[in-house]
Amino acid sequence: ASAGAGGGLGLLIALLVLFGGRERGPMADMHRALRNGEFIPHYQPIIDLDTGRILGCEVLVRWRKPDGRLIPPGAFIGEAERTGFIFPMTLAVMRQAAAELGPTYSARPELKCGFNLCAAHFRDQTIVTDVAAIFSHSDVALSQVLLEVTERDPLPDMDAARKIIARFQEMGVRVALDDVGTGHGGMSYLLKLRVDVMKIDKLFIDALGSERQSTAIVDSLIDLAAHLNMEVVAEGVETFDQVEALRRRGVRAAQGYVFAPPLPGSSFCQLVQAMEPV
Ligand code: C2E
Ligand code: CA
Ligand code: CA
Ligand code: CA
Repeated sequence: ASAGAGGGLGLLIALLVLFGGRERGPMADMHRALRNGEFIPHYQPIIDLDTGRILGCEVLVRWRKPDGRLIPPGAFIGEAERTGFIFPMTLAVMRQAAAELGPTYSARPELKCGFNLCAAHFRDQTIVTDVAAIFSHSDVALSQVLLEVTERDPLPDMDAARKIIARFQEMGVRVALDDVGTGHGGMSYLLKLRVDVMKIDKLFIDALGSERQSTAIVDSLIDLAAHLNMEVVAEGVETFDQVEALRRRGVRAAQGYVFAPPLPGSSFCQLVQAMEPV
């Protein structure tokens, strides 16, 4: 009997050490930070290249540490995806963005806002229910929401992903393929997933006009988008030469430092409010 009690005690201690250790790990840090409201959205304007008007924004998460430092997503998204922390974090970012953009967006129904999802979100329909719940109780309409799926990481299940995308589109949510040109999908994601928007990666925009092969790839992506009835957004536009090269090719929408970096919510909303209503 005493040996059994000792074994139980040993197990208890082992569990305490194990979970005690977890409590101090990066995962526990992130959960604590989430409860503290440290994961905040920033908003990068997306610009209409014909008119110079703001078409909407892409929502990009930052980790604002208690000392005020802003940690970029590259430093924690990988870990968040490995641990599953990405799921509660994504919903928290969406709720904050919906609350922050609501007053501005409800007055301007033509504005859009894009959110980044990861490959694991396209495994089951949970994300569909979550997005519906967040935006049906918000001043940002489902028709203003764009969801970005990156082709950088392989999708775990193409059939599931197609069904999820179709359900989003039935609710009026639009879907973009992100980082096009860099990914595992090659052309197949573009052809198989019936998305509404193609986001051409910065890698190709950088070389636009200066490097023949990249320019040829951009031209064929734009051509493909037109055939597939997709809108094009150019990412990472840094120079006026790139803006001109895109305009010549009939690309209407772009984001990049040449216009604005990702901004805090108050700054982004001020920019929108300074713009004449349509
Ligand atoms: P992304 O989706 O390709 O986002 C565009 C990235 O390019 C952003 O970096 C943005 O700040 C940066 N960028 C925009 N314009 C320019 C430019 O002109 N020049 C340069 N050099 N960079 C530009 P950021 O905010 O550091 O985000 C990096 C990546 O982290 C994003 O790439 C996205 O994949 C991921 N990410 C960001 N927020 C979230 C999120 O809420 N959820 C998920 N799952 N991923 C996120
Ligand atoms: Ca994106
Ligand atoms: Ca991108
Ligand atoms: Ca990119």
